[in-house]
Amino acid sequence: MSEIENPKAASSAAAPRVGFVSLGCPKALTDSELILTQLSAEGYQTSKTFEGADLVIVNTCGFIDDAVKESLDTIAEALAVNGRVIVTGCLGAKSISSATKNGASNAVSTGVSADFSSENLVKSIHPSVLAVTGPHATQEVMDAVHLHLPKPHDPFVDLVPAQGIKLTPKHYAYLKISEGCNHRCTFCIIPSMRGDLVSRPIGDVLKEARALFESGVKELLVISQDTSAYGVDVKYRTGFYEGKPIKTRMLELVQTLGDMAEPYGAWVRLHYVYPYPSVDEVIPFMATGKVLPYLDVPFQHSHPDVLKRMKRPASGERNLERIQRWREACPEIVIRSTFIAGFPGETEAEFEHLLGFMREAQIDRAGCFAYSPVEGAVANDIPGMLPQALRDERRARFMAVAEEVSAAKLQRRVGATMQVLVDSAPGLGKKGGIGRSYADAPEIDGTVRLLPPEKISKQLKVGEFTRARIVGTQGHDLVALPI
Ligand code: SF4
Repeated sequence: MSEIENPKAASSAAAPRVGFVSLGCPKALTDSELILTQLSAEGYQTSKTFEGADLVIVNTCGFIDDAVKESLDTIAEALAVNGRVIVTGCLGAKSISSATKNGASNAVSTGVSADFSSENLVKSIHPSVLAVTGPHATQEVMDAVHLHLPKPHDPFVDLVPAQGIKLTPKHYAYLKISEGCNHRCTFCIIPSMRGDLVSRPIGDVLKEARALFESGVKELLVISQDTSAYGVDVKYRTGFYEGKPIKTRMLELVQTLGDMAEPYGAWVRLHYVYPYPSVDEVIPFMATGKVLPYLDVPFQHSHPDVLKRMKRPASGERNLERIQRWREACPEIVIRSTFIAGFPGETEAEFEHLLGFMREAQIDRAGCFAYSPVEGAVANDIPGMLPQALRDERRARFMAVAEEVSAAKLQRRVGATMQVLVDSAPGLGKKGGIGRSYADAPEIDGTVRLLPPEKISKQLKVGEFTRARIVGTQGHDLVALPI
C-alpha cells in the first residue's frame, strides 16, 4: 500500500501541528500534560520546533520575576518565529495592575476566570497573541485551538494511550489532586493567581492513578498546593471509585493509592504535606511500606513569631514533637523541607531558633531561599526588611547546618542494601547508571550513583528497580553497587 492509500498516513500528514512549551513547576507540568493529552486525543500532532508548527502554546509561570521574564521572552520568541501563539498558565492570569502595585489579592485575577481585558499583562505586552488563559484551563485552551486551528476529524489519529501524554520519563508521573489554596501565606501570590482550593473528585484522581500504573508508571508523586487539605473544600464528600463509596480525604486517598500500587510494585510519594494532626494517621501506612516513608513538608521556619508573620498553615503546631512522634512510629521516615532565611523582621535570635530546629529535627533534605520579595505579596509591607547581604549570609549559615545533618544521615546508609529505581542506564548499565532510593524525589533530592554491576549477567533497565549495596557517599548522593 502506498502512503496515500493508507488512510492513517494520509490523514497524519494533513494533521495540524501544535508546538508546545511548558515552563514552571510540576503543577504547571500536569496542566501541560492534560492539554497535550487532549490535543493528541483529538488528532493534533505536536511539533518540536516553532517553525514546524501551525500554532504554538506557551504554558507560563508567573511566580517570581525571573520566571515572568523567561515566560515573556519565550512568548516573544514564539511570536517572532511562528507568529500564532496561545498563552496559558499563571502569567496568563496576571493583570498589569498586579505588576505595578502591591496588594495582589485585588490586582491579580484568579485562576481560570482570569481578567483577559486590556488590563491583562501578557496581552498588553504582546497584543498579537491569539488568546490568553490562566492556569488549569485545558478547556479554554482547547477552545482557542479549535477557533484558530480547527480540529481534524479523523478516527485514525484519535488514538491516545490510556495514561495520556506525559512530559516526565515514562516510569514516574505527577498526580495532581487539587488546584488552588485556602491559605494566605504573606510571601506567596499563588492563591491570588490560582484561587481557593478546589479538590478534584476522588473517583477521577483514582482512575487517573490506575491508568498511570497500568501504563508502567513505577513512581506516583502526589502533588497539590496543600495535600493535607485534600477534600476540605467539599467537606470530605463521599465520592465513588469502581462502584465503592470513598471519602474525598487525604487518609482514604493515600490508603487506596497504597493498595492500588502494591500489585504493580510501584511507589507512592507524598509532596506538600502540612504538619496537621491528621497527617499522623498516614504515618502507619508508611511504616508498613504501603506508601513511601517520605514526607515533603514545607516548614519555611521554626520560630512561632516568624511563622505568624508568614501566616503559615499549622503554625501553632508543635512541629518538633510531631516529627519526633513520626520518627518513633516510622523510624525509616525521610523528611524533606524548604525554609526561608531572612524573612522581614527576622531577628538573630529567631534565626538561631531555626538553626536549632534544623539540628534537632534532623531534616534529611532541606532547601533554603534567602527571602526575596515577590511582586504583589503582602510580606512586602511587613516592616524590617533585612539587607540582601544579611539574608544571603543567613541562607549560607542555614545551608551549612543542613548539609552537616544531611551528610551525616547519608553516611549512616553506607553498608545498607536499598531498593533503587533506575532513571538512567546507558548500555543496560554496563558502565553503571543513575537511580533513586525512597529517600530521593526526582529533580529535587539527591540520587544513587550506580556502579557497573560486578555480576556479568546483571543488567540495569530504566524504569525498573534494582537492589544495591551502598558503598559510599558523594555530596548529596549515594554511591552503590547493584546486586
Ligand atoms: S500554603 Fe501558603 S505558600 Fe503554599 S500555596 Fe498556599 S499560600 Fe502559597
